[in-house]
Amino acid sequence: MDVRIVRLQLRHTWTTTMASSEFRDTVHVAYRRDGITGRGEGAPIVRYKESAESARQALESLRPLVAAADPWRFTKLEAEVHRRIRGEYAARAALEIALFDWIGQKLGLPLYQYFGLDPDDAPITSFSIGIDTPELTRQKVREAEPFPVLKIKVGLATDEQTIAAVRSVTDKPLRVDANEGWKTKEEALEKIRWLETQGVEFVEQPLPAAMVEETRWVRERVRMPIIADEAVLHPSDIPRLAAAYDGVNIKLDKCGGLLPAWRMIQIARALGLKTMLGCMISSSVSVTAAAHLAPLVDYADLDGNLLIANDPYSGVKVERGKLILPRRAGLGLIEAA
Ligand code: MG
Repeated sequence: MDVRIVRLQLRHTWTTTMASSEFRDTVHVAYRRDGITGRGEGAPIVRYKESAESARQALESLRPLVAAADPWRFTKLEAEVHRRIRGEYAARAALEIALFDWIGQKLGLPLYQYFGLDPDDAPITSFSIGIDTPELTRQKVREAEPFPVLKIKVGLATDEQTIAAVRSVTDKPLRVDANEGWKTKEEALEKIRWLETQGVEFVEQPLPAAMVEETRWVRERVRMPIIADEAVLHPSDIPRLAAAYDGVNIKLDKCGGLLPAWRMIQIARALGLKTMLGCMISSSVSVTAAAHLAPLVDYADLDGNLLIANDPYSGVKVERGKLILPRRAGLGLIEAA
């Protein structure tokens, strides 16, 4: 197992309610066995007290376990990893994705086929527009011309001018992500009622994750679907959110990889929730892994690799918003020239 931290340079300074940044560090795993290399990646999430360095250290601590493990018994390995480390879900995702890439290559099957899915069922992906000045927002929206649906980051004092800037350039359907930025149920209600007049399909995480009861109060008063993101990390989070949200945004980096994401999709569906696959800012390794499960979900927001300037791999492609899965074995990655 090779473990390394890769610095991904952003095309545009990326601003959300949480932070503003020029680059992101993600942790990459290469799992080598029998002449086959499986690749995985996880994007550490600061909100959950993860960093690229803490992820790297967690993976280093697993080195003897991984070396001795039978990759075909990946469920057993996942359970053992769970016993040995706390948190560090990006690290777990990096390792687990690398194992699945290895297994797919060993079997000669693309991962969507391993999971029994039709790649043509993958939904379109939205393209995300970070928070910026009205002028730069308009420029980004113009650059996003090939994407039929945009996801607009809001949650600061500038929401009205942000949406006005977007609407001055396009009449495409929008999805809006507040990233916990609205602080009271009354504020969230007012903002969502206004968004209902702006051609917005749904809103993601309007209130802080802990405000489940307040979110349920808002949900009873609006028509627009409300999707949980920061409130939902793991399969066990979903049942208590079912009354407050209409859907869940599942990310491999939050839950620890493909298997937990698959479980979350099934649990959410069983509870009548909409399902969405999202991603952090990451390379084509992590985004392609998520894309292999995309035929299972209602919505995709898998654009993290499109926001960076130095992607070390290519994998999933996007044509007019449609996710095009590689037909090669495993993740189907190709190293950048
Ligand atoms: Mg979100």
